[in-house]
Amino acid sequence: MVSRQMEARGIRDPRVLEAMRNVPREQFIPEEHRHLGCEDDPVSIGFGQTISQPYMTALMAECLCLQGTEAVLEVGAGCGYHAAVLGALAARVIAVEIIPELAEMARRTLQETGLDRNILVVCGDGSRGWPDEAPYDAISVAAAAPDAPAEMVAQLKDPGSLVIPVGSYWEQELRVITKSQGVTRSRLATYCRFVPLRGPGGWE
Ligand code: SAH
Repeated sequence: MVSRQMEARGIRDPRVLEAMRNVPREQFIPEEHRHLGCEDDPVSIGFGQTISQPYMTALMAECLCLQGTEAVLEVGAGCGYHAAVLGALAARVIAVEIIPELAEMARRTLQETGLDRNILVVCGDGSRGWPDEAPYDAISVAAAAPDAPAEMVAQLKDPGSLVIPVGSYWEQELRVITKSQGVTRSRLATYCRFVPLRGPGGWE
């Protein structure tokens, strides 16, 4: 999975590649779809949601340039896989999930895989970020929004990076928003298609 889907497509950060090798994606997928654990696609996790394509998880993690010391917010934890990858790359992860059953599934799998040491899964609406633990060195949003919610950008430290799919309900651009020395910049990482972010910062 790592050499064909990631290295061959340009993922270079050795820490990201190692995290992708070490976190068992299949464990985060419901049993009936577990055989699809290494597929190059999103996979259904129930409740109309998916675990992202592995390449997208790796690319989003690489875009944040994590060194291991950061506090990271993940919005849209789903099954908890992406949170586990971020947990391997940063000091602490707050993962917000709006669907209670998925939040519970993420918590349980993180515990079962022993990857929950530095990850807190909370259930709620993260479409305007999660002010309780702000500010964050990095924010990763796994669901698409019309634009980067201003409250989320405000919860980012300087320096800090936010990665989020923005665009229409059906098609988006993966954007990396960075704050550095008081200046906020946005760059295009790739084109993509994510499930919609619910709530006031996304689509109601
Ligand atoms: N991070 C996952 C991807 C999950 S898909 C992975 O490991 O691959 C995106 C998730 O965002 C879904 O589970 C959906 O329920 C959740 N979501 C949508 N809107 C949200 C919101 N406003 N707050 C928190 N989670 C949200």
